[in-house]
Amino acid sequence: MANCPENTRLHKFISFVFIIALSSTLCAQAYARGPYSYTGVELQNAVDEAYEKFKGLKDGKNADYIPILATVPSELFGVVIVTKAGDVYSAGDTDYIFAIESTSKPFNLALVMEEYGPEEVQEKIGVEATGLPFNSKLAMELIKARSVNPLVNAGAIAQVSMVKAKNEEERWDKVFQNMKDFAGTELKVMDEVYESEITTSWSNRAIANLLYNYGRLYSEPEDALRVYTKMCSVGVSTTDLGFMGATLANGGVNPKTGKRLMKEEYVHHLLAVMLTAGFYDESGEWAYTAGLPSKTGVGGGIVSVVPGVLAIAAFSPRLNEAGNSVRAQEAIDYISDKFDLNIFKPRKLPAVM
Ligand code: GLN
Repeated sequence: MANCPENTRLHKFISFVFIIALSSTLCAQAYARGPYSYTGVELQNAVDEAYEKFKGLKDGKNADYIPILATVPSELFGVVIVTKAGDVYSAGDTDYIFAIESTSKPFNLALVMEEYGPEEVQEKIGVEATGLPFNSKLAMELIKARSVNPLVNAGAIAQVSMVKAKNEEERWDKVFQNMKDFAGTELKVMDEVYESEITTSWSNRAIANLLYNYGRLYSEPEDALRVYTKMCSVGVSTTDLGFMGATLANGGVNPKTGKRLMKEEYVHHLLAVMLTAGFYDESGEWAYTAGLPSKTGVGGGIVSVVPGVLAIAAFSPRLNEAGNSVRAQEAIDYISDKFDLNIFKPRKLPAVM
């Protein structure tokens, strides 16, 4: 009995040391993960659930105005989350290589912003949403900027024509190198896609010529058209697209390579255009539901960015009327909702710390 107080003191001391050690470990982990705190298991479960939930969806159909896209197996489906630290959680066909198409546009915009700064982008291209389809010529007549915004075809052809270079070859090399840097890996042009697209590009050729006519193209129209079409024909996997998005989520630094690709203070300008124009004439609906800056492509890919946190990429070839992948948008919307990633929502998950 005489030993009792001392035992109690020793016991208290040991408990105290244990609690301090445990809480500082937890705090360090939580701090490292930042205010959004999801475990790897939760993120993996989310992509698995999204894949399972929507893999049976048959709505929509492959793009066929670029003939080769109609031949891509429609059942392919991949979903991936890449965190800003570069951790990858994936489900489905995330290694399948598909044509990046319009999901390339925000990444080239990053390059153009680096070369000119955001004000000149606003002035030389424009940043207004159209509410009209991605290849609209009517929008070019209605909107004073003509090129409209960098994420529709007109603005994307214009931004490619702005990339500083002494000739077409050098321009292409810069555009392509920038895409590889965003993906943090080697990429290839899908030659068959390029052939299929460039030989049927009458609509984009008209857009390039109209821009030139209005003094809103900054290289020869055919030069811009070829470089733009090649950019759209680059093959990526869903995981590559995830890393491209994660580079934006990470403030312009690729989490895989550590390479800075754009100034941090420009990223929010780019994300704003993605939010208002990334889904073309469905951008309003997408902001209203998923609430994430995103970019879609007629190859079936979509990339969404949660600024400062992570990127979600998904791919499936069947598109709705606006040219946006049906399954990919459902999958991303599901994940956004599950974790309250919508940028307009206050965080429901507690900020640990
Ligand atoms: N290369 C395609 C085009 O110019 C890109 C369109 C898209 O993905 N929405 O039509």
